[in-house]
Amino acid sequence: MSTVLVTGGNGYIGSHTVISLFENGYDVVIADNLANSKMEVQRRLEKICGRSFKFYNVDCCDEEALSVVFEENKIDAVIHFAGLKAVGESVTIPLDYYSNNIGSMITVCRLMKKYGVRELVFSSSATVYGMSEDVPFTEESPLGVCTNPYGWTKWMIEQILRDFSKAEPDMKICLLRYFNPVGAHESGLIGEDPRGIPNNLFPYISKVAGGTLEKLTVFGDDYPTPDGTCLRDYIHVCDLADGHVKAIQYLDSHDSGVCLFNLGTGKGTSVKEAIAAFEKACGHPINHVFGPRRPGDIAVCYASTEKAEKELGFKARYTIDDMCSSCWKWQTMNPEGLSDN
Ligand code: NAD
Ligand code: UDP
Repeated sequence: MSTVLVTGGNGYIGSHTVISLFENGYDVVIADNLANSKMEVQRRLEKICGRSFKFYNVDCCDEEALSVVFEENKIDAVIHFAGLKAVGESVTIPLDYYSNNIGSMITVCRLMKKYGVRELVFSSSATVYGMSEDVPFTEESPLGVCTNPYGWTKWMIEQILRDFSKAEPDMKICLLRYFNPVGAHESGLIGEDPRGIPNNLFPYISKVAGGTLEKLTVFGDDYPTPDGTCLRDYIHVCDLADGHVKAIQYLDSHDSGVCLFNLGTGKGTSVKEAIAAFEKACGHPINHVFGPRRPGDIAVCYASTEKAEKELGFKARYTIDDMCSSCWKWQTMNPEGLSDN
C-alpha cells in the first residue's frame, strides 16, 4: 500500500482529500501545525473512515521537526496543502505569507530529496493567471501579474518547483491549479470552517442562511456579464479531492518532470446564480444587498477542463446545487463551526 504524506491535511481541502485517498486504498500520514484548523477534524475523519490517521502537529517550515515524519514513515508521495490562504491578510502581513508558504515548500522539497521521495502534488491556484479575462483559462494561458502576496507565493512556488525538477531529474511533480473550491463532505461532518468573519462567498452565504450573519453584500452588479455580477468556476471540494487521487495515479504511471492541470468544472456561475442556488438548498431567501466592486476582482474566471479530462481522466461530477446543499448540511450540523480543542 502506498503512503501519502498530506501536509495541511487537517485543513479544508486536505481533510476531504484524506478521505478520497483512504477510499482509494492509500495510507495517509498528516502533518499540520493547526495554524488554520482544529484537532476536532481528526476525530471527524475517524468517524467517516472508521480509522484514525497518523497525525503530526508540526510546522512544515521546521526541517528538523518535519524530518521526524519522514524518518518514522515510509512516504511514497507528498501532497503539499500546508500554507496560509487569506488574500486580504496576505496584503497586511506579506512576510509571514512569503516565509510560511515558500519556506514550507522548500523544506518539504529538501526532505523529499533527502529521503528519496519522488512524487509531489502542489496546491496552486487559478490566481496565477492574474487579471486576464481571456477565458477559459487553459494550462497554456500566460501567467499573469498577481494582485496580492498570496497569489505571488503560488506563482513563485510553481517556478521554484520547475527549477527543482530541472536540478533533480528523478522528481515527478504535479501542479494543480484550483478554481473555487466550495461545498462539504456528504456526511456533514467536515467542511470549510473559517475563523472569524468569512471573506469568501460560500462560507459567507452559509452564515447568512444560518442566521449568524445578517446580510451578504454582493460586490458589484455592473460587470460586463449577463446579470452584472462576477462569474466564477465553483468546484465541489469532493471533486477536487478526487482530482488529487488522479494526480497521484498519474505520477505513478508517468515519467519524471513537471505536469500541470486546472481543476475546475469549466462552468461560470454568477454571484446572483449562486445566491439563487443556495436559496433553493436552504429553502428560504438569503438577505443580500448590492455594494461596490471589491478591488482586485475580475469579472469572469473559469477553467478549460480539456487537459485534465483527457490526460488525468478527471471530470467534476457535482453541480452547483450539490455544492449548495452540502454546504447547507455542514452549516446546519455545525452552526458554530468545530470546537476548538
Ligand atoms: P486551509 O487553511 O483550510 O488548510 C491549510 C492547512 O495547512 C491548515 O490546516 C493549516 O493549519 C495548515 N498549515 C498552514 N501553514 C502550515 C505550516 N507551515 N506547517 C504545517 N501546516 C500548516 O486551506 P485550504 O482551503 O484547505 O487550502 C489548502 C491549500 O490549497 C492551500 O495551500 C491553499 O493556498 C490552496 N488553495 C486553496 C484554495 C481555496 O479556495 N480554498 C484555492 C486555491 C488554492
Ligand atoms: N463575493 C461577494 N460578496 C462576498 C464575498 C464574495 O459578492 O461577501 C463575490 C466576489 O466579488 C467574487 C465571488 O463572490 O465575484 C467569489 O468570491 P470569493 O472570494 O469566494 O472567490 P474569488 O473571487 O476570490 O476567487
